[in-house]
Amino acid sequence: MSSGARLLVLGKQGAGKGTQAVRIAGHYGVPHISTGDIFRAAAADGTPFGLRANEFMTRGELVPDDVVIGVVAERLAKDDAVNDGFVLDGFPRTKVQAEELQRLLGPGGLDAAVDIDVPTEVVIERISGRRVCATCGTPYHVSSPPESNWTCDKDGGEVVQREDDTPEAVTKRLELYEEATRPLLDFYEGLGLLVTVDGVGDPDEVFDRVLDGIETARQVQTR
Ligand SMILES: [Zn+2]
Repeated sequence: MSSGARLLVLGKQGAGKGTQAVRIAGHYGVPHISTGDIFRAAAADGTPFGLRANEFMTRGELVPDDVVIGVVAERLAKDDAVNDGFVLDGFPRTKVQAEELQRLLGPGGLDAAVDIDVPTEVVIERISGRRVCATCGTPYHVSSPPESNWTCDKDGGEVVQREDDTPEAVTKRLELYEEATRPLLDFYEGLGLLVTVDGVGDPDEVFDRVLDGIETARQVQTR
């Protein structure tokens, strides 16, 4: 039987996608391939696509699809990903990227696309409850505030809400995410690869649901 797994994880900001992706990778013994990490690594290593991506990033511009795909392809060509598999986190972001990934991996190249689904209201509450020390950046939450009067436990700095974390800003970002992601979800659903997991609740419970979903999807495919 094949060990390893070839997976990708989707989910809106605040859904706990990154946390789950790391745990899934650990469970299957495959690399966690996060777009942020591989872009930094590719730029540092000076790979052809890494250097091109870096040009866009240093100008503060969006990296075009073909360059994003190039960076991911370079990473997927390394031995660990070829032999054991991978958990992609943060890629694909668009349907074009998803189609390219399918071409790259070939038929049967992906076991499942896991969508960690959390209702918008829950995510807005999670994110808009965040607070941060303006001095040292220590994170807090309205559900776990500093000990006294919204001043930092470490340095007494003022604990504030980031502009990005206001309910209005979060709502706007989530709308944009939904718009970009719905075609992706439809694409994977059409391929029979979409595994939707209820992302509300304790991270351990969510992780159990994720594994159940992945294993069910893999059994269906090997039948
Ligand atoms: Zn502080």
